Amino acid sequence: MKRREELSFRERMYLPEVIKGLAVTNYRFFRNLILHGLHAIGLAKQTRAAVTTQYPEELKYYPDNYRGSHRLTLKEDGAVRCTACFLCATACPANCIYIEAGEHPDPQVEKFPLRYEIDTLRCIYCGLCVEACPCDAIRMDTYTHPKIWGYSRIDFVETKEVLMKRSKVLAARGRNALIEDMVADYKAAENAPLEPLD
Ligand code: SF4
Ligand code: SF4
Repeated sequence: MKRREELSFRERMYLPEVIKGLAVTNYRFFRNLILHGLHAIGLAKQTRAAVTTQYPEELKYYPDNYRGSHRLTLKEDGAVRCTACFLCATACPANCIYIEAGEHPDPQVEKFPLRYEIDTLRCIYCGLCVEACPCDAIRMDTYTHPKIWGYSRIDFVETKEVLMKRSKVLAARGRNALIEDMVADYKAAENAPLEPLD
């Protein structure tokens, strides 16, 4: 963005820039309106109009290095791999990881997380928690978004159980299963009667 003293006289008048912005918006709007109208009657099919992805019903392809929702990885016996070392929480710039450490019953393992929570409303999906983890206990290779609906902040906090379940689903049913489950939950929530707020 330019500083005010770097703006030309024309830019400092603002009105020409406002008109320019409106012209672009209107051009796009009417172009798409006309093209979609023509497509509906079978004409101009070779000219593509802008299309909005109807997420989450309509899925997009995500590249392999896409940073999706978090998951806590598991040991072979299904236990959480995390040792509650707090390095991820320390590295997190959004301060959105909450860990409560507990003594592990196995004397070979020092600690494990009694609670591990990520507040997805604060998370900026930077991946620093994944980078910081010394034992590959947290990953963002789920190819799915966090939950996108809810009526209170707590609905957007992902618990240890949610984060572990992602790893189980991924291992059992593959890459698309998590997003399929999320869409199913979303549709169920959409059709559920609204409960009055407290
Ligand atoms: S992705 Fe970034 S902001 Fe989100 S929990 Fe990890 S470190 Fe924090
Ligand atoms: S996820 Fe990794 S960095 Fe975070 S507490 Fe567990 S072991 Fe430590």
